[in-house]
Amino acid sequence: MTKKFICKFCGSSVAIDFNTTHKLSVGSRLKTEKGEKTSRGIAIISTDEMTLYYEFCPSCEKTSVYAVGEGSEFKGKTWNLYPDSIAKQLPDYIPSSIIEDYVEACKIVKLSPKSSATLSRRCLQGMIRDFWNVKKSRLIDEIDAITDKVDLETQEVLHSLRQLGNIGAHPEKDINLIIDIESDEAELLILFIEYLFEEWYIKRHERKSMLKKIKEINNNKNQIKKGKL
Ligand SMILES: [Zn+2]
Repeated sequence: MTKKFICKFCGSSVAIDFNTTHKLSVGSRLKTEKGEKTSRGIAIISTDEMTLYYEFCPSCEKTSVYAVGEGSEFKGKTWNLYPDSIAKQLPDYIPSSIIEDYVEACKIVKLSPKSSATLSRRCLQGMIRDFWNVKKSRLIDEIDAITDKVDLETQEVLHSLRQLGNIGAHPEKDINLIIDIESDEAELLILFIEYLFEEWYIKRHERKSMLKKIKEINNNKNQIKKGKL
């Protein structure tokens, strides 16, 4: 069985070899049951209440730690202990102002889900302006302007994110009406933002570099044909 994890520090994809997966006993401090210091892969401490995961990245040699709830009280909960954010490492061809909003949205998702949703909304607006080169004063019009560029389902979710992000940005007209956003709901918005990074920026970049490589290969062969190489 092959599984992998994505390093939260450098974004490397690390294959997990279950033969070298270390079950740690509490108090053994990053050592395997045999007493060796682990240097890569994943280490797990399990109790009835929660499982603690250590992920060692061989590329950047950093360790990330997170806990997953197991007992009835904590079931389905995840705590990112180190780094203490769910933010993924993003490539630098995405504008830094957009990355900053995303990182901030991740950082406060548990503390203030409503503000996190507002930041995700801002992140979306930044992306539409930068990626699709659309600039209007209202996000609703900007989303409508890219109707022919995204599928209907995505478009509907873009509008949902716009409205959910508004809850934190603008209070309801009836101030007694309080609508809240839960942290798992705000986390979903972050996942959607990550999906857009992937679908828009990363795919475009990968497509470009693939096409460039093919052209280079062909140029190279042509040079050989002409006897220049
Ligand atoms: Zn790494």
